[in-house]
Amino acid sequence: DPQTGYCAKSRIYYSKLVPGEIPSERTDLVTYLFERRRGDGAVVAVVDGRSGRKLTYSELEQSVRVVAAGLVERLGVKKGDVLGILSPNSVEFEVLFLAAASLGVVASALNPLNTNGDVKKLFRVAGAKYIFTVPELLAKAEATGLPVVVIEGDEASSKLGDSKKPFLRYSDLLSGNPRNIPRVQVSQEDPAAILFSSGTTGESKGVVLTHGNFIAMCAVVTAPRVDGGLNKVVLHLIPMFHIFGLLVSVGNIARGATVVVLPRFDFLEMLTTIQKYQVTSFPLVPPILLLMIKQDVVQKFDMSSLRNIGCGAAPLGKEQLDQCAARFPNAKLLQGYGLTESSAVGSCTPADGAEFADHFGSAGMLGPTLEAMVVDPLTNEAVPPTKQGELWLRGPTIMKEYVGNAKATAEAIDKDSWLHTGDLVYFDNDGYLYIVDRLKELIKYKANQVAPAELESLLLGHPAVLDAAVIPFPDEEAGEIPMAYIVRKPESALTAEEAMKFVAEQVAPFKKIRKVAFIEAIPKSAAGKMERRKLVELSRLQSKM
Ligand code: AMP
Repeated sequence: DPQTGYCAKSRIYYSKLVPGEIPSERTDLVTYLFERRRGDGAVVAVVDGRSGRKLTYSELEQSVRVVAAGLVERLGVKKGDVLGILSPNSVEFEVLFLAAASLGVVASALNPLNTNGDVKKLFRVAGAKYIFTVPELLAKAEATGLPVVVIEGDEASSKLGDSKKPFLRYSDLLSGNPRNIPRVQVSQEDPAAILFSSGTTGESKGVVLTHGNFIAMCAVVTAPRVDGGLNKVVLHLIPMFHIFGLLVSVGNIARGATVVVLPRFDFLEMLTTIQKYQVTSFPLVPPILLLMIKQDVVQKFDMSSLRNIGCGAAPLGKEQLDQCAARFPNAKLLQGYGLTESSAVGSCTPADGAEFADHFGSAGMLGPTLEAMVVDPLTNEAVPPTKQGELWLRGPTIMKEYVGNAKATAEAIDKDSWLHTGDLVYFDNDGYLYIVDRLKELIKYKANQVAPAELESLLLGHPAVLDAAVIPFPDEEAGEIPMAYIVRKPESALTAEEAMKFVAEQVAPFKKIRKVAFIEAIPKSAAGKMERRKLVELSRLQSKM
């Protein structure tokens, strides 16, 4: 059916959007990106938003080659090796990612807020051989026991000083000679990145994304109806350790845009940067959108260059959409939905916005290159438009695997190559997708993933706790906060504050439990499986009382 994209016979939804060009199987990501840019080498590719340092497309390509040579000469890296990156956004991060990819070397990036223990564990899962980091995070990187390469930025405050001697400095790579780059065949099947996600259940797993996944992602963002010509100058605040951030970096090279990189969130600096560089496109997440539409100081700045406010990674309310339209009349608020496991691609609002006004609350249309099924979790039947079910996705952006975890991979991707997203959705009669709820365990605190199983196992380590379950609780600012239901030992006087503090001392700040309720027993199924859904419903009832 051309209106819905749904085929009643196969019960599959097909994307109504036409992708950009996809090259032959033998082209790797980096060759593909720079081939696309032949002819516009003088365009500015990337700007350090703080120092103003710029690289044109031809300088970016040259830097990538020099750093690739440096990696070979100084570290002896080989195809298939994994580099860990623990760093805020920077021009160097982007160059390093591309330099590694050009050699068939895999980059694995982590949220720097992770605890030392998590950093060590996750980089071990990824199989990292070296860690690239910045001076502020040196101790955390060194705690892994792996050799550390330090990236010093433009500012004096981010220099290491002479007393500290890292294994190597990033600047040492800049004397690399591109003639020393060995000829390696990198194809679309080869991995390019390992990023972390808890998927539908359990703890963090390393999502392996290939060159082909990234190329397909570029074909999605360069699709005429996705790009819409709105992305000339892009503010890059979304962290590159998350797939949404890599989509901003890599996707905008494919588009030939100018990307202005900021290392971390600072509200006034962000507004100044938009004004100074006449930013046209600002990809963001709901907590930042909330500031943009609520804080009065925004009106002191010239925001008239903004054409595209792209909001992804978590749901948005109707009200927020209206307020955004009122405050930024030149800008379209384009919503996107996706997962790390789908290279951030899922659905998006078409940039031409022709039909958008009638579809408030939707996460847009199924992305180009993708097929979808909506499967009723009770009957396991694929359902037609307007009917709810779990979203399954299939296409060239779907991950290769969870690294070293065949069991989790088989649970996530079935034998017919469908990725089971764990999200409850429906399509309407115009082919627009609505994310209704989450069937999986995942909690999203300010767009950061929090895995309930991890917090539950910490709580069970407290001597006064008999049983515990952690669920998402709705919160206007954060989207969701982790909430714990705790069964205390009969004689215990454990308080909510004590329980929260106990966990807070052991986890990254974004994983803190922020609400606690005590309960007689955690609901369990006949098979003994914890029924988090029942607690989610209970918490919603209790909050209404
Ligand atoms: P991540 O892998 O960290 O990007 O998390 C993916 C999950 O975030 C999805 O499976 C959804 O549950 C949620 N998500 C992403 N985008 C949206 C959106 N636009 N609306 C609602 N939930 C979203």
